[in-house]
Amino acid sequence: MAKLKSITIPVSTYEYVLRYLDKAAAKIKLDENLLRIIKDPRKITIVKLPIQMDDGSFQVFTGYRVQHSTVRGPGKGGIRYHPNVNLDEVKSLAAWMTWKCAIMGIPFGGAKGGITCDPKKMSMNELERLTRRYAADLADVLGPEKDVPAPDVNTNAQTMAWIMDTYCMHRGEYSPSVVTGKPVVLGGSRGRHDATGNGVAIAVREAAKALGMKLNECTAAVQGFGNVGSIAARSLMEKGVKVVAISDVNGGLENKKGIDVNALIKYTAGNKGSISGFSGAKEISKNRILTFKCDILIPAALENVITEKNAAKVKAKIIGEGANGPTTPDADAILRKNGVTVIPDILCNAGGVTVSYFEWVQDRLGYFWSEEDVNNRLEEHLVRAFNDVFAVSREFKCSLRLAAYILAVKRVTEVLLLRGVYA
Ligand code: NAD
Repeated sequence: MAKLKSITIPVSTYEYVLRYLDKAAAKIKLDENLLRIIKDPRKITIVKLPIQMDDGSFQVFTGYRVQHSTVRGPGKGGIRYHPNVNLDEVKSLAAWMTWKCAIMGIPFGGAKGGITCDPKKMSMNELERLTRRYAADLADVLGPEKDVPAPDVNTNAQTMAWIMDTYCMHRGEYSPSVVTGKPVVLGGSRGRHDATGNGVAIAVREAAKALGMKLNECTAAVQGFGNVGSIAARSLMEKGVKVVAISDVNGGLENKKGIDVNALIKYTAGNKGSISGFSGAKEISKNRILTFKCDILIPAALENVITEKNAAKVKAKIIGEGANGPTTPDADAILRKNGVTVIPDILCNAGGVTVSYFEWVQDRLGYFWSEEDVNNRLEEHLVRAFNDVFAVSREFKCSLRLAAYILAVKRVTEVLLLRGVYA
């Protein structure tokens, strides 16, 4: 929250999205009519979801689905369950998906969804009813050729299975490619669960290479130990990085000799997902993580955590943005001034959507690939995208973030111009 005299005004993440977009548009002198078109989401759906709770009472939840762009293909993007989900956040996340898919060169637009709820306080039965009601209300909005959801914060393969089943029941057809991130036995892709975290580590490896840093001499701190944070930490460890600090919503851990990430993943599985109480490290305040002394920082929790208040205190040389939107534009400028290389979210965490694309392709073919095949294709896509963004940053003498936006905007507007504006 930014303070203005005594009035507190909420920060609009979408304003941040637009600021980056304006900068990229100015750099490439984008036609202002095109800019106007890509600034606004194409379609916003808001649904009210009355759900019977286990105690017999009814609660009404609010659900969102925003399709930012369907110019390059069907909408694509996760579904988030969190008490702070709101339209501004979902719009931002949807726009980032548009840029992400364009940078990766995969044939999707951008979309995102969410429900304002606290899943930690809900039973599995309540979550299933909520998910199915949301999917039923969105049955006409979603579809393999229209808009394809995936997991995000507090949703997982089971959530996707419920959405797929509800959609199929409504359509009277078997249509697994309506969602990605499903369990493998339901048409999910091997390698999807680990794809975002593995992709973060690949992007960090490429950045380290470009900076002449050796991963086996580097330390890392990771904020968030969910799907993205835990796998990114593991993958970095496998590449020789010493992971010295990790945090989640409950607290932080530090071990200067390196945290055994595999042991911590096993521990959290039996500890309701929480890192608290792990014996292989010292407990620290979770607030120390972003400014922890390390070479590589991986924010992998939520947005707007690196701000103008803490950016100058960041000690890492590389930030690999596992989360979407973890750095505010003001913080981004401070980091650039201080020589910190930020691998932007729309490149760094795009491994997930890339393997989601592979899943969609496999479902439509009805022919499934080995994990090795998936991982090799992921590696190939991410390295190519990193090199594309890196080349643009050289050409325009700008940060990787601005370069990523420039590349994405060019690719989206090229297609927009070819298709023309139907009016
Ligand atoms: P998740 O629900 O699996 O994990 C989130 C983690 O963040 C949990 O460990 C939670 O405890 C932690 N966390 C929450 N608040 C925190 C705080 N204040 N301090 C420290 N830790 C905190 O979610 P996820 O799927 O790993 O997603 C994390 C981020 O990555 C989100 O921004 C999401 O949009 C982004 N992302 C996810 C994917 C994907 O494939 N899952 C793909 C691209 C981007």
